[in-house]
Amino acid sequence: MKGRVFCGRRVGNGVDSSVLIPVPVGGEEIVSVIDHELNLSKQIERLTTMLEISRILSSTLDLGRLELIIVESATRIVECEDSSILLIDPHSGELVFEASARLLPEQTKPVVVPIDSSIAGWVVRNDRPVILADATSDPRYFARADQETGFHTHSLLGVPVSFKGRVIGVLMAVNKIAGEFTDRDTELLTVLAAQAAVAIENARLLAELQRAYQELNELDRLKSEFITTTSHELRTPLTAIKGYLQLVNRGMFPPDRQAEVLQTVAQHVDTVVYLVNDLLLMQEMQALDLHETDVDLGTIANLEMQACRERAKAAGIRWVAEIASGVPPVRGDAERLQRMLHNLLDNAIKFSPDGGDVTVRVYAADGHVHLQVSDPGIGIPQEKQARIFERFYRIEQTDRHLFGGLGLGLSIARQIAQEHGGQIDLVSAPGQGSTFTVKLPARAG
Ligand code: ADP
Repeated sequence: MKGRVFCGRRVGNGVDSSVLIPVPVGGEEIVSVIDHELNLSKQIERLTTMLEISRILSSTLDLGRLELIIVESATRIVECEDSSILLIDPHSGELVFEASARLLPEQTKPVVVPIDSSIAGWVVRNDRPVILADATSDPRYFARADQETGFHTHSLLGVPVSFKGRVIGVLMAVNKIAGEFTDRDTELLTVLAAQAAVAIENARLLAELQRAYQELNELDRLKSEFITTTSHELRTPLTAIKGYLQLVNRGMFPPDRQAEVLQTVAQHVDTVVYLVNDLLLMQEMQALDLHETDVDLGTIANLEMQACRERAKAAGIRWVAEIASGVPPVRGDAERLQRMLHNLLDNAIKFSPDGGDVTVRVYAADGHVHLQVSDPGIGIPQEKQARIFERFYRIEQTDRHLFGGLGLGLSIARQIAQEHGGQIDLVSAPGQGSTFTVKLPARAG
């Protein structure tokens, strides 16, 4: 209303512009009173709107809904065609276009806007508002956001959304309906952005809490399941040991069978020891550093095949070693690497109920040393192959065999491979055996 002098008819809190009449210059006194009154009523209207917005903002903790309320409010208070909000992803640090007043949530694609070369990025980096009369002619203009939303930006006002002195995003108002964006619009949008920041942070905090709560619940469930499985897995060999010892005690076995019975008892004791070791190892791996040396995987393979010889023999398994010559060492913890192979060989024996040849290969390829275990066992269905590396995961066995185990062996093996900068791959099909391949980086030089 400044610059020219008008007289207008009051309509509610605002002014009906269709009846604005220029007033002769002599009537300035009357006009300044009217002007003042109009400004006042406009301010009251805006304040009422802000209050209402602040009430609505505090009424929800759903981030998606909040973003919509924020952009709709921005459009209303600065009287523009559209508004949008962009937030910095707390994990990736990227600036993401989150919501626009014109688009339904399902139409909004989370476009990543470059922080270094966009107007919104400039607002984030400088922590300052920006007003542009023609945004598209600005070198910082990022055309993709308009292309994605099918919108044409002309004028633009952007303000930082900050929480506790940290910029968490940008609130943009686009295409002022009448005239240009003013400093007053900047003030209003800044106030809205401050309220929005608090609401957004609260919503994020709540989402974080809910996620943590769900995780705790899931951990609790896994813990209960784990206690049941562990007790069961320990009870089976301990019951067998107890039974054998009672029978020996009562003199039920003739002297010539006692060595055989003790051998069986020793195997059950080994099972208990391995289970307990797996549990301890799982705990230790999180706490202890690697004890690194140059390790020859061929030597590890021979040592471990030797260590499992008796069990393999009892299960009708024959080790076939194919250790290539001149394989470079890997950098790592020999004890853990042997443990990793132990778990693979243990499974190869356990899941090959009809016996047969288990081949252990060590060879170099593509700057890596490959350690491979192929068994002729029951195989693993495709859809279960990713899951078997998860902690406590075991495939339910429905056929004639019951295989013991806590579902920890492969998760420990994978963790050891990963902490050595390597990975484990699997090729398998039901009834056609399994081949596990560990690839570790060969030591350079
Ligand atoms: P567990 O200690 O119970 O054997 P693992 O983590 O070593 O646990 O293995 C998880 C599951 O993966 C096993 O219960 C089994 O169903 C499947 N599995 C692992 N290795 C083999 C294999 N060589 N052949 C067939 N199935 C296997």
